[in-house]
Amino acid sequence: MGLLDDLEKGLIVTDNPDALADSYMERWHAGEIKGDLMDVLGLTLEEDTAWASFGADFGLLLEWRLHGRPSTCGLCGKHIGEEHWAVFRRDNGEQIRTHFPCWAKAAGQRKLDSGLVGRFLKRMGLAAEYSPTKHESGLITPEYLVLKDGAQVGFCEVKTAPVFGRPSGQGTAFTDLDQNLHAAVAQFNLVNPDVRLVNILAFVDHESGLRWEDLRALATEDIAAEARAGYEGESKLDTPLGQAKAAKWPVDVYLWFSSKRGPGRGPGRFGARFSFKMLFNSNDPGRFLHACTLFGVDAAAVPTAD
Ligand SMILES: [Zn+2]
Repeated sequence: MGLLDDLEKGLIVTDNPDALADSYMERWHAGEIKGDLMDVLGLTLEEDTAWASFGADFGLLLEWRLHGRPSTCGLCGKHIGEEHWAVFRRDNGEQIRTHFPCWAKAAGQRKLDSGLVGRFLKRMGLAAEYSPTKHESGLITPEYLVLKDGAQVGFCEVKTAPVFGRPSGQGTAFTDLDQNLHAAVAQFNLVNPDVRLVNILAFVDHESGLRWEDLRALATEDIAAEARAGYEGESKLDTPLGQAKAAKWPVDVYLWFSSKRGPGRGPGRFGARFSFKMLFNSNDPGRFLHACTLFGVDAAAVPTAD
């Protein structure tokens, strides 16, 4: 009988199973509790893998003991058996049971997208330090600390479109974008509540059907007007830069990378595959100027996007 068994049977009651598991582990390390750690914690091999390899919360394992594990993959929506599964943590802290190949694909794509944005920031003369951590609220902090000349100047969060393995028929790419925006704002609020530093939100689009104009509409909450236009028509911006005076969110700079091939290799190209757009929040002139300076952009030359 280990900890998880005792919790399952109600022999031990706690509102923080993770803290309790950590204290068991500390006592085991200190030699106060003897035996195999897996037995001490009461984990099966599968549970130990989920906990140790995929970072599943101890509380999640308890919940699954009490109510059963989900029988569908949280990424692809298909049936999931007992073999070769994983736990994927979404940016909002939610943990989902997935097929291992689905987990590997999502984790791999996330890594590639983060790398792309990190290299872009470096090219703009900023240093990007990858350091997402799990906050006590369960949310993950923004992926990058952004530094200039050794001092931290901001945060950067990276989101991918479309959302991995969203079961078909549930929501649209635009809804995903909206949810990603709100998730990112919550993440920025965790670490930068008084917006003392610059918040940079990067979207990497993999032919999700979304357009730059969709992001601009969300940034300015001008969704109704965009919807009336049916998301058709050309962007008012034919340059990679824009400013939104009506920007609503505590995001200073939006980066939009699109894997769609554009004509030629104009100023809006990044590497061979991605074109990019930058949208600056110009609601607050001082912050706008500061953000432009960080990216080496002449604020006076940034066209208005709304
Ligand atoms: Zn799957």
